[in-house]
Amino acid sequence: MFKALVMEQNDDGLAQAVIKEISEDRLPEGNVTVAVEYSTVNYKDGLCLSPKGGGLVRNYPHVPGIDYAGTVEASDDNRYKPGDKVVLTGWRVGEVSWGGYAQKARISADKLVPLPKGLTTRQAMAVGTAGFTAMLAVMALEDHGLQPGQGPVLVTGAAGGVGSVATAILSNLGYYVAAVTGRPDQTDYLQGLGAAQIVPREELNQTIKRPLEAETWAGCVDAVGGDMLARVLGQMKYGASVSAVGLAGGAQLPATVIPFLLRGVNLLGIDSVMQPYENRLRAWTRIATDLPMDKLDAMVQAATLDDLPALGADILKGQVKGRVVVDVN
Ligand code: NDP
Repeated sequence: MFKALVMEQNDDGLAQAVIKEISEDRLPEGNVTVAVEYSTVNYKDGLCLSPKGGGLVRNYPHVPGIDYAGTVEASDDNRYKPGDKVVLTGWRVGEVSWGGYAQKARISADKLVPLPKGLTTRQAMAVGTAGFTAMLAVMALEDHGLQPGQGPVLVTGAAGGVGSVATAILSNLGYYVAAVTGRPDQTDYLQGLGAAQIVPREELNQTIKRPLEAETWAGCVDAVGGDMLARVLGQMKYGASVSAVGLAGGAQLPATVIPFLLRGVNLLGIDSVMQPYENRLRAWTRIATDLPMDKLDAMVQAATLDDLPALGADILKGQVKGRVVVDVN
């Protein structure tokens, strides 16, 4: 038996979280069983913890938690043996299959990565899908030519999970980071992560009036989408790129194609869920070297399974600062 947070559906069709002991034979199929140590709270976890499952959860009872890190307990795969430390993000775990809000999880070895050298399981979950995605976004900008010294790099939704990690990584790599936030009270926090400039959200989240504005940003990690992304596209420098990561401000893109045609701006799509193994390793290796651990610590709040329903609701309202680490034991 092990402890888990289980979403159970009521007669009215709405789900609610119950923390209970469940039997190991309820775990999904897979050739590696993991003793989970830590999980985390991403925006998607907020959706999966909500009464309707955010359109992501297919079947109840369900154990959410899109990320986990822990120790291999049993393995039928020669890549992993008992005692190995492992990390899981993505692959729709915690959405369509059971996830990390439990003391045990079972998974196919193909979906795991070894815990990167230099990180603890707790630090890996402080990073989680949000931080992993921030690293993918920075790598994509670099792969398209971004280098320090080309001008300010914009990070939208900066006080959130993706934004906090992107700010810390970019600043550590020597970029001048302009952090967009709707929470002016988080100015000290963002400056502590390395933001050189704070841009109030209201300066960027109105509908575009002109397809092109002054060339301002050398790159952008965008967690917000919607009007803000449309506006930012028209402010990019010639040939610069935007990594489109999220939709915290909306899934629409009310933009014109003019920035692409007249300024050679690139819009780079970033997906963390189905990311191939080699690029996962590349991103985790970069995280271990390029994300300062003191800055990661400054982003983290600790939580337990009991805290998750409230944290899930908070993240959907954009009210969680930085990253959450959930000790599931
Ligand atoms: P968070 O809630 O931690 O961060 C989102 C931030 O966006 C908030 O903290 C807030 O920052 C800002 N924000 C919220 N609402 C609005 C709004 N209406 N208008 C403008 N800004 C807003 O979530 P995560 O960092 O975990 O995820 C961010 C986004 O990235 C989500 O949409 C998520 O689904 C997506 N995502 C995508 C992944 C992928 O694989 N592509 C992987 C991980 C996340 P502030 O208060 O500073 O303004």
